[in-house]
Amino acid sequence: MPKQTIRDLDLSGKKVLVRVDFNVPLTKDGEVSDDRRIVAALPTLKHALDHGASLILVSHLGRPTGKPEADAPFRLDRVAARLSERLGRPVQKVNDTVGPEAQAAASKLTPGQVLVLENVRFNSGEKKGDPKFAAELAGLADAYVNDAFGTCHRDEASMVAVPECFPTDRRAIGFLVEKELQILDTLLGQPKGPMVALMGGAKVSDKILVIENLLPKVEKLLIGGAMTYTFLRAQGHSTGKSRVEEDKLDEARKLLELAGSKLVLPSDHLVATSLDPTAETKVVTGPEIPDGWLGLDIGPATAETYGEIIRNAGTVIWNGPMGKFEDEPFRQGTLKVGQAMANSSGVTVVGGGETAESVEEFGLADKMSHVSTGGGAFLECLEGKTFNSLKVIPDR
Ligand code: ADP
Ligand code: MG
Repeated sequence: MPKQTIRDLDLSGKKVLVRVDFNVPLTKDGEVSDDRRIVAALPTLKHALDHGASLILVSHLGRPTGKPEADAPFRLDRVAARLSERLGRPVQKVNDTVGPEAQAAASKLTPGQVLVLENVRFNSGEKKGDPKFAAELAGLADAYVNDAFGTCHRDEASMVAVPECFPTDRRAIGFLVEKELQILDTLLGQPKGPMVALMGGAKVSDKILVIENLLPKVEKLLIGGAMTYTFLRAQGHSTGKSRVEEDKLDEARKLLELAGSKLVLPSDHLVATSLDPTAETKVVTGPEIPDGWLGLDIGPATAETYGEIIRNAGTVIWNGPMGKFEDEPFRQGTLKVGQAMANSSGVTVVGGGETAESVEEFGLADKMSHVSTGGGAFLECLEGKTFNSLKVIPDR
């Protein structure tokens, strides 16, 4: 069922609390290194401002510990400054979330003004879903909008208890959450066939539930990344020094059996003598990784085969890099499948923290149908989970 959206709210003259996900990556000096998540929230923010609202923005950033000194890098000042640049209007930032400074600033807001509150996770009530903290936060505004897709799988106060403080006709999702949900709905409902899933990344254990849920819907499940070696070991092959999850071999065997010929493993591998980018490398063909070597990328023949399957698909869904793409010598496989997706005329959806980072880095993000802003939230949707943060927003 579609959810009530910001289009359905009475916005004129209202103070709207928007829960955004401005949990952006930072450089060592604390600068915003990638503002994709800020840009993704702009349509919702502009819509509210254009309709006469003022904005109170709430987000977390990083993993604060509760010690003010250590937490200083997680203050939202630089995020607010970047938002101001992107929005093309002044943005006010206060140093608390529900205290007197926040209350004073919120009460003075006039239509068109934007206020960013301090990192919501500086308050212990946020993680606990504390109702008293939630009531204080909700008390600052007239209406609530959830546009924080990347946080939708969390039951934190600003995601669940805060919207519960508002009458149901004053709760909605924003355009980003709406778009992410629509795309996931299509992927899991009636995707344009044939549908192909491309799965890689660090660990098979993170992806077992996703694979199980996607298997009945896909024509092919193409495997890459480190999880390859857990599957190869489960089949009884030698894996050299490659990363293998020894305690997941039984589950890997079950998945192999369940998937049958749908599951495709790489036919060749780029192997190296160590994880070091300067290590000696070579390509090995076949499922055996020689002693003393570890697999760090899919090989060129695999990249070619996967590319062909991807180009002929109606829908491709990709989570997990094909190799240790952060290092130049191990990135070709990830780059090649990314390029095949970019050139595909089908629907192409990319999700997951590092996977999204890789397509950004390769300059391919704009050529995909959709790059999800959610890492964990995207994966949990693919597992078929539903979220409390969305249950509290009424259906239309
Ligand atoms: P996502 O965040 O997109 O869901 P994951 O977190 O599952 O992806 O995995 C991403 C990480 O997996 C990357 O940092 C990459 O370096 C690593 N990786 C992929 N393939 C290998 C490999 N063969 N050996 C070691 N690390 C790998
Ligand atoms: Mg990751």
